[in-house]
Amino acid sequence: MSDDFPPYPSGLRLAGREVVVVGGGHVAQRRVPGLIAVGARVVVVSPVVTPAIEGLVGSGEVTWHPRGFEPADLDQAWYVIAATDDPAANELVSRVSEARRIFCVRSDDAVKATAWTPAVGRHAGVTVAVLGNRTPRRSADVRDEILTGLRNGTIAATDHRDRTPGVVLVGGGPGNPELVTIAARRALSEADVVVADRLAPRELLSELSPEVELIDVAKLPRGRSAKQEEINRLIVERAKAGKCVVRFKGGDSFVFGRGFEEAIACAEAGVPYRVVPGLTSAISVPALAGIPVTHRGVAHEFTVISGHLPPDDESSLVEWDAVARLRGTVVLLMAVENLPAIAARLVAGGRKEDTPVAVVADGTMPAERRLFSTLGEVADDTVRERVQPPAIVVIGDVVAVANPGRYSWPS
Ligand code: SAH
Repeated sequence: MSDDFPPYPSGLRLAGREVVVVGGGHVAQRRVPGLIAVGARVVVVSPVVTPAIEGLVGSGEVTWHPRGFEPADLDQAWYVIAATDDPAANELVSRVSEARRIFCVRSDDAVKATAWTPAVGRHAGVTVAVLGNRTPRRSADVRDEILTGLRNGTIAATDHRDRTPGVVLVGGGPGNPELVTIAARRALSEADVVVADRLAPRELLSELSPEVELIDVAKLPRGRSAKQEEINRLIVERAKAGKCVVRFKGGDSFVFGRGFEEAIACAEAGVPYRVVPGLTSAISVPALAGIPVTHRGVAHEFTVISGHLPPDDESSLVEWDAVARLRGTVVLLMAVENLPAIAARLVAGGRKEDTPVAVVADGTMPAERRLFSTLGEVADDTVRERVQPPAIVVIGDVVAVANPGRYSWPS
């Protein structure tokens, strides 16, 4: 055996085949999910296991023999991972494997191992595996570079894109392109047509290849509901023409995003659609402004409300009197214009005037602005500070917990 030669890469197809992991510590814990993900029948042999592995035992995803290793453990094994913290135990597993011609990974001694675990990642049905010469950090870095390239299209595997005709309703997160999901990026890289909202992370649109048709919804004329009909018509028509259409929105498509109206339009037209959820601004914008929407002992509920209608509007579906009686966090979207009326209504309904309020405009973006106030003063403060949409309003004690210095009362 020599360590002068590089390893020979091979894709093991382990579905339904037994893999024995000897050891139940952190190394084993890192390997087991990858084995489960490829369908292997995982058997862990170890007197003790981490709580995470125990959880997998409890859910029936792995079998656990709570004892030391015995050679008979390898009777059904196709592949072995020796991952105990005892070199002598690893050596024994390694020797038994060698005698039986079963490839064996060793956590403690790569030179003595007969197999190495590569740094692995997957994208669009391709498995990327990188093996260095005992340089795991470097392998992981190379793997990350390749995956990033595949995901953002700088490594173009264009011929193999999944361009199934239909509509993908993609939530793009609160606006910062770092906060878009991997699934969203992939959908964009596969699109023939992208129909983008004003609040979708627009920086990503510049990465689209030139042949992709980009339709900017912000530029479509007509009023609110006519515009939605026009969008429904557009996405259905393009999909019926055989295109893969991405409907790209801010936040999550189903949080005040009219996403399900588009889903219904697709369903009615017999156009297949799927959903890629996004990070909603209702939670992520406060989070990045340092405000948790819940906090133990402070808020055990949070309520997300659209403020696009004045509280006394006949068509409002919000029970503002009930909202005023809530103790927990209230998050308002689309509320800049109606904030004075809403704040007054909440105070009239019983919520204290000194309830802390934060307003975050252009959250997660370079232009982000934060304003800290109280329910009694927020109307004047937002007018004075000329707060413009898009903005998130967070009402409740969590605001003071996160920003104690800004409020004069103890939390
Ligand atoms: N579907 C979106 C919400 C659409 S409604 C989501 O899940 O986030 C539009 C409202 O969202 C805006 O008026 C504003 O209240 C809020 N919003 C969206 N992005 C925002 C951002 N980056 N900063 C602050 N508020 C934002």
